[in-house]
Amino acid sequence: MFLLESIKRCAELGRDAVIHKDGSMSYAQLDRRSSAFAGYLLSLGDSKRPVLIYGHKEADFLACMFGSLKAARAYVPIDISFPQDRLEQVIADVQPEVIVDFTGTRVDGLHPDELEQLMKRYDGFEPDESDWVQPEDTCYMIFTSGSTGKPKGVPINLRNLENMFASAKDICSTGDGGVCLNSVSYSFDLSVIAVWVAVGLGMTLYTIDKKTTENFKEMFEALKVSGVTLWVTTPSYAEVCVMSDDFNESLMPEVRKFFFCGEILTNKLAASLIKRFPKATVLNTYGPTEATVFVTSVEITREMADAQEPLPVGRFFETITPRIVDEEGNVVASGEKGQLQLIGNSVSVGYFGRPDLNEKAFFDVETAGTVMHGYNTGDICYMTGDMLHYCGRNDLQIKLNGFRIEIEDIEKNLMKLPSVKRAAVCPVYVDGKVESLVAFILPEGESDLPKLKRINAMKSELGQLVPSYMIPRKFVLKESLPTNANGKVDKKALLASL
Ligand code: AMP
Repeated sequence: MFLLESIKRCAELGRDAVIHKDGSMSYAQLDRRSSAFAGYLLSLGDSKRPVLIYGHKEADFLACMFGSLKAARAYVPIDISFPQDRLEQVIADVQPEVIVDFTGTRVDGLHPDELEQLMKRYDGFEPDESDWVQPEDTCYMIFTSGSTGKPKGVPINLRNLENMFASAKDICSTGDGGVCLNSVSYSFDLSVIAVWVAVGLGMTLYTIDKKTTENFKEMFEALKVSGVTLWVTTPSYAEVCVMSDDFNESLMPEVRKFFFCGEILTNKLAASLIKRFPKATVLNTYGPTEATVFVTSVEITREMADAQEPLPVGRFFETITPRIVDEEGNVVASGEKGQLQLIGNSVSVGYFGRPDLNEKAFFDVETAGTVMHGYNTGDICYMTGDMLHYCGRNDLQIKLNGFRIEIEDIEKNLMKLPSVKRAAVCPVYVDGKVESLVAFILPEGESDLPKLKRINAMKSELGQLVPSYMIPRKFVLKESLPTNANGKVDKKALLASL
C-alpha cells in the first residue's frame, strides 16, 4: 500500500515525518508508533469497526490514523472545533470500536496517558502486510455538513485513494522530499493532501495549529522557519496571508507550489502570489470530498490571472470521466452549462448509512462492459475543450471562508432552539464569493430581554449544535417571514429588507 510503504522507505532514509510546535517526529518513530497502535487494535478482534480520533494536530493523531490503516480499520478524524452535539451524532452513527481522545475529557475515550501506555505495551510489534487495509476497505470517513441538519459521513476506500494518488503525486511533488504545510484541520478533506499525498511522496509535514494561525505574528514566524515547499490551503486562508506585505518570497524562499482547492480562486489572489513568489507555481484544483479531494488541476499563468475571466478549475485526471448534464440528465453540447457528474474509481461508495441521500447523489453507469460509480456534484459547470469552468451550485450548498456548509443545516439547527419559531439563512455575496451569512428569525413567544441579548443567546445556543463557522454573522429578528408564490420563505425579499 503506497502510503505505508512510503513511511517505511522514509524511516530507512532517516527523514522527519512531522515538525510541530513542541518538536518533531521522525518517520521511524511514526512507523513504530503506528505499528504499536495497530498491535493494540488487532488485539481487539476483527470486528473492523472504525477508530474515531478526536483532537487537533497532535503528532500522534497521525500515528493513530496510520495505525488504524495497518490494522485494516477506517479512521474518523474529528477536530476539536466540532461541537459536542455533532460529535455525539457522529459517534452514534459510526459506532467506533475505539475513541482516541486527545482532549482527555471523554469517559469513553482513550486518553493521551493511556495511549502512551499502549504504545509502550505494543512497542516493537510489526503488523503483517496482510493485516493492512485492502483496496475495497474504507480508509477514512470525513463528515461534512448535511442538508437534513445532521453531518453526513463520506467513506473513502483504498482504491479511491490509489486512484487519486496516481495523478496527485506529479501535481503535488516539489522534488525528492520537501516540506508540506500541514495547517488544514484533519476533519476536512483538503488535509488528505498532507496526510496521504505528501506522506506518500515522503515529504515532511510542517504543522501549524489553530492557535498559531490565530496569531498572525506567530504564524509568520513559524512560516519563516518552515522550509515549506508545498503550500496547501483554501484560497481564503491565503487571502488572509497576502493582506500582509511580508507574505512573499523572502518569508518562504523554498516554496515551489501553491495548491488550492475547495472554493473559488480569485484572479487577484493568483496574480498577487505569482508576483510575490516568482519561483512558485499556482495550482487551481477542483473536486468534492465525495470524489477523494480533487479530480482536476491547472497551473495558473500570469496571463490567466491578469485576464478578466474567472479562472478555470482545471483538466480532469485521466481516470475520471466527467459528464455535464441538463436537468433531465441528458449530456449537454460542448461549451454549454449543466450539472457536472463525476464517474470513476475516485468516487466514494456513498454516504455512510444514508440510502435516502445516496439514491439522489450517487449512481452506477456501465462503460465498456464495466460498471463504474458516479456522483452528482451539484456544481454547475461548462467545458472549453478539455478545461473545466465552475459557475456555482444548483442547490443551497455554499463555501464560506473555505468551509462547506449546507444552508439548511444551519436553518434546521436554528429551529431546534426553543427561542426560534422559524429561521431563514441567506448568504451575502461580494464579487461572486459568499462573504457572510444573515439569519432572519421569527422568534418563539415574547421576551423581556433586549434584542441584542436575545440574539447573543441564540448565537451561543446555536454554537452548541454547529461549528462556529456556521453561525451567521448577522441575526435579524422579524415579526413575520415573507413567502413567495410557492409558499417558501422569500429570501430575495428578506435580503432586500436589510
Ligand atoms: P468539499 O467537499 O469541501 O471539497 O467541497 C466541494 C465543493 O467545493 C465542490 O462541489 C465545489 O462546489 C466547490 N469547489 C471545489 N473546488 C473548487 C474550485 N477550484 N473553485 C470553485 N469551487 C470549488
